[in-house]
Amino acid sequence: MIIVIKKNSDKKQFDNLVRWVKSQGVDTDVSVGSNSTVLGLVGDTSKIDIDLVRSLDIVEDVKRIQEPYKCVNRKFHPDDTIVDVGGVKFGGDNFQIIAGPCSVESEKQIVFVAEEVKKAGASVLRGGAFKPRTSPYSFQGLREDGIKLLLKAKAETGMPIITEIMSIRHIDLFRDVDIIQIGARDMQNFELLKEVGRLHKPVMLKRGLANTVEEWLMSAEYIMSEGCKDIILCERGIRTFEPYTRNTLDLSAIPLLKELTHLPVVVDPSHASGLSRLVKPLSLAAVGAGAHGLMIEVHNDPMHALCDGAQSIRPEEFKDIVEKIDVMLPLVNKHRTV
Ligand code: PEP
Ligand code: MN
Repeated sequence: MIIVIKKNSDKKQFDNLVRWVKSQGVDTDVSVGSNSTVLGLVGDTSKIDIDLVRSLDIVEDVKRIQEPYKCVNRKFHPDDTIVDVGGVKFGGDNFQIIAGPCSVESEKQIVFVAEEVKKAGASVLRGGAFKPRTSPYSFQGLREDGIKLLLKAKAETGMPIITEIMSIRHIDLFRDVDIIQIGARDMQNFELLKEVGRLHKPVMLKRGLANTVEEWLMSAEYIMSEGCKDIILCERGIRTFEPYTRNTLDLSAIPLLKELTHLPVVVDPSHASGLSRLVKPLSLAAVGAGAHGLMIEVHNDPMHALCDGAQSIRPEEFKDIVEKIDVMLPLVNKHRTV
């Protein structure tokens, strides 16, 4: 349920309303937007008398929310959420590019790629330390050492870092990581979502391999209901019957999500296609569809990458994509900020 509060309402009356709602065993979420203040009610609202609330002086409207996701619902929070990662802002009219290798392989590799992508316009460095691989015999990532190397690259370049968490047991290692990534395979690992939500750190939640938009938003709801407001969604392609590409990029999810939720949406064209030559057209398509950013796999030597070489582009190709993006951004009323 949401209660829309009249403009310039009496603060005391508003506080009384919040107190009364809480006394009914219902949690509240206040969103002060540019046009109105919305009091969101989370929990079992069956005992709340809608007519009584509607009759209050300060109340403009009361609506029940039909969707099962509440906190992440655009109706709860009409304005875009801006996720601020040490000054790098996701959401609204900001556009950000996250780039880096699929996995951290060595200090030389990660620092080199970090410097190259930063020069070309990336604002956040990616790199997998814990890798979710289909085969237990494939490279599993440098794990704790991988995070140390990412922190080294961060110290050298000043870029915030994002890396994937796969287990609650590793949470302490992520203390200095700027954005915690929840990978596609863990989108419905609900215990992990709850634990990560309690850290109150920015989180990027990738869409599951074969999950609906509603399931994805419910997973974001798990994180937000633990108190974390800073969630970035990442569309990375879904499984379909098409074998030519690794996944199928669901471009329609981008404008759809902008209606359904206030959270920023980033697109990963690398995992979506699995093919380096498709990364550029898909990146530009994502910009056109209104994405708030991109996450692109860039490797110094894709032929010898320990993971996902076929979808990794070289720094010079990355630079060309950023140049094209910059031409498009004014058309979608966004700007690249670092
Ligand atoms: C990744 O970004 O490193 C990754 C493993 O992606 P996904 O979870 O989307 O497969
Ligand atoms: Mn990868």
